[in-house]
Amino acid sequence: MSNRRNFIKKTSIGVAGTFLSSKVSSSNFSKKNQNSMTGLPIIISTWKHGYAANEKAYELIKNGKRAIDAVEQGVKVTEADPDCTSVGYGGWPDRDGNVTLDACIMDHTGNCGSVSFLKNIKHPISVARKVMDNTPHVMLSGQGAFEFAIKNGFHKEDLLTDKAKKRWKEWLRDSKYQPIINVENHDTIGLLAIDKNGDISGACTTSGLAWKMHGRVGDSPIIGAGMFVDNEIGGCCATGVGEAVMKTLGSFLIVELMRQGATPQEACEEGVSRIVKNQNYKDMQIGYLAINKKGEHGAYAVHKGFDYALHQNGTNKMIDAQAFVK
Ligand code: ASP
Repeated sequence: MSNRRNFIKKTSIGVAGTFLSSKVSSSNFSKKNQNSMTGLPIIISTWKHGYAANEKAYELIKNGKRAIDAVEQGVKVTEADPDCTSVGYGGWPDRDGNVTLDACIMDHTGNCGSVSFLKNIKHPISVARKVMDNTPHVMLSGQGAFEFAIKNGFHKEDLLTDKAKKRWKEWLRDSKYQPIINVENHDTIGLLAIDKNGDISGACTTSGLAWKMHGRVGDSPIIGAGMFVDNEIGGCCATGVGEAVMKTLGSFLIVELMRQGATPQEACEEGVSRIVKNQNYKDMQIGYLAINKKGEHGAYAVHKGFDYALHQNGTNKMIDAQAFVK
């Protein structure tokens, strides 16, 4: 038995070794750590709307609530905001005028839940939480997810605001599908938090890329792509063109790189480098946020313009992420 255990241990070290690309190897991990401020609890989230979400999450954590509750309640603030046109209520629709939502949530025990292609429910993150807590599954999709939500006390709502409808009608004139860097027809909220017990959780919720094909699902509800946490290591969340994130399973990759010794910053940079290596990144934005269990954080994007909110040592602030394209 012990031989078998040794073999497994050796094999996984071997795999980890080959996993590292030439740009980031174990020897240069830990040399660079631009975001080495520590301090728990920590809350981090994507884009400007993350600021208010962090405030809410911190209120819960300060009062002794668990990270899983904080991340859910935090991103609900964004989901409910009609002025946020890339998440929940008020999100820009697909090319046929449907607001379809994706979300996932994961706790410190590795439990997770998600919903994809969900219509008419304002808080997909809470449906994802119910999938996690009350079903033997990880993901429910489309009509099944909707019926599950209704059975669990959620209400059917029209999520297409007048503002979003007007914008969609304007878009229809040219019907040109082209995600625009940063201003975008997207901007998911991903939020990670470590609570007073030192436990990590994450949440990610979006209306996805505006003007997407009906039925399109992005990275945000995919555990390991849009978000991933591991209580031994830390967590990561993603924003931007989901197809690029899915092709590299970005959040899982970044957490695994931290497991191998990378700082959150190094891991995010490597996550971006895996994308730019093989994909046409010129017109596409992707941003990653990561934290480790020490409370260090990292952030990196393909292009400039990705900002994030960091709540640490009692202060909430916006920070501009560094980018691959200088
Ligand atoms: N990642 C999301 C998606 O592809 C969009 C975004 O982050 O803005 O659906």
